[in-house]
Amino acid sequence: MIVEITKTPDAAYDITATMDTLVSEAEKMKQKGARFITITAKDISETDAEVLYHFEVEDHVENIHLITKKAEPIKSITGVYVAAFIGENEAQDLFKLKFSNLAVDLGGKMLKNDISPSTLLKPAVGPQPPIMRKLGPCREECPAMVNIPKYIREVENDNPEAAYNTIIDRAPIPAILGRVCFAPCQEGCRQELEAKPIQIRLLKRVAADGFKELNGSLQREVTCKAPSGKRVAIVGGGPAGVATAYYLGLQGHKAVVYEKGTMLGGAMAWGIPKYRLPKDLMNEELMARLNEVGAEVKLETAVEDLDTLMSEGYDAAFLGIGADQCNSLRCEGEDSEGVISFIDFLTAVNIRNETPAIGSRVIVIGGGNSAMDAARTAVRLGADDVTLFYRRTEGEMPASLHEVHGAMEEGVNFDFLSSQIKIIPGKPLKINFQAMVPGEPDESGRRRPMPMEGRGVTVEADTIISAIGYRGLVPAGMGVEVNRYGQIETDESLKTSRDNVWAGGDAVFGPTSVIAALRDGRIAASSIDKYLGGEGLSDATPDMTEFVARPVDKEALMEAPRAEIPELDPDERIKGFDEVELLLEKCKATCEAGRCWRCDWNE
Ligand code: SF4
Repeated sequence: MIVEITKTPDAAYDITATMDTLVSEAEKMKQKGARFITITAKDISETDAEVLYHFEVEDHVENIHLITKKAEPIKSITGVYVAAFIGENEAQDLFKLKFSNLAVDLGGKMLKNDISPSTLLKPAVGPQPPIMRKLGPCREECPAMVNIPKYIREVENDNPEAAYNTIIDRAPIPAILGRVCFAPCQEGCRQELEAKPIQIRLLKRVAADGFKELNGSLQREVTCKAPSGKRVAIVGGGPAGVATAYYLGLQGHKAVVYEKGTMLGGAMAWGIPKYRLPKDLMNEELMARLNEVGAEVKLETAVEDLDTLMSEGYDAAFLGIGADQCNSLRCEGEDSEGVISFIDFLTAVNIRNETPAIGSRVIVIGGGNSAMDAARTAVRLGADDVTLFYRRTEGEMPASLHEVHGAMEEGVNFDFLSSQIKIIPGKPLKINFQAMVPGEPDESGRRRPMPMEGRGVTVEADTIISAIGYRGLVPAGMGVEVNRYGQIETDESLKTSRDNVWAGGDAVFGPTSVIAALRDGRIAASSIDKYLGGEGLSDATPDMTEFVARPVDKEALMEAPRAEIPELDPDERIKGFDEVELLLEKCKATCEAGRCWRCDWNE
């Protein structure tokens, strides 16, 4: 360790930090690719010390400069640069400084003990100091970068409260995600190599339902920063809007959520059937997060003109207005009576609790999760013959395999490589399908379906449900730039073309996923917080304070069976809208969590 302070000649490279900004300044260094060099320090009085953190940035050195009271613990930067643990321990030895959250704290004995660094870097079996940590492949695949390895350990240790809080740190609605997330994390899971990825989504539900059982509700007590006096309008009460409001509330800002519908949830509310996501549970968890931070909700309040809204004294706004315009079938006769969009159909059933008269023969056109939701809902409404037509092959359907299997189990028929060309009005409706054959790959990488001349069928139906995707429509009164697809243009911080307006979710990226919308909410809240004078939210880093043991019996990990998703029997399911998936029993959840490799350890 160098004990003299060395300042670079150019003061532009000397950044002054306070105790509150030290870690975020280190994070900024990391973001611009700076290499940590070392720490230097010197006493400037009996009570005060000066500490410099040195970084190599391209061809020069930059310093973060901190003056501190010796008695006051300095926030360790080892959560950002783990290598700083050596310099921080040396500073404890030489200057009697104290660091909090130090990844490896040798208690002032680094220079006076018999522990060799190699002992630290090659831990034996059993609990070890939390050094050499990384995010883990599951976490890297998660759009919101939820600390998955950590909450899996918390579930394994039967600590649902800790697991629930760990998830909320980056994705505020674990009970909902545990039911509907498409779980890209599972595709990245190391156990996927054994074709047995950890049931990460199910474990999220175990955490949330376990927390609710312990606590009696999903609402927690949280500590928000002191009120800033700033107000932010959130337009849209879907996952992006609620996440933005929650994280802004934690930072001390007052969020007011404007939702045009009768309930919060956006596409989760109108689009996801109750048998996948009970609406009372969805509402409870969304309201829990908003209540925890004192956010206000205005239901059935459409915002068409942002200038008018901002004139009510808001300092910033977030647009999470979603996407709810169904794509056209692009075939003659699609306006015929008896042809409805999946959005109108599902909204009637999911939100208004209606039972549309769909008759006994129902055709659903599409191959995504929305088409599966529409088909499975039609089965539950009593249709005898529900057939789903899709213009590509089975393997090219965008729907998740789990949903496709669920539909098949419930008796939905599938007809692949058939494209609608004409609907003939009447009772029953008639619809002509053209037979298709896979051609050359298109821009999506899938083989473009080509018509087989002279081959096709005509089918009769009482109802035809169109489910071939949807898009957004941004009201002109929002005053923000949109791209040629009608999506709001933003920069990386999700700021729109207006100075104090941010946006995220489906309105920016087109229909994506709940977890991606939550990611956007957190990014936007962080950007808005900085705009309002705060420091923003922290980046995803391993929890260096957590004590982690490496897995010991690797063969057992590979051989352990994967937990099955517990579900209602198909004959029972189709009688109503009871939740299909059931909670994993506690002992099975513990075993499933125990199959985790703890990949946030470096090998
Ligand atoms: S084994 Fe565990 S830590 Fe590793 S990728 Fe899978 S869930 Fe994540």
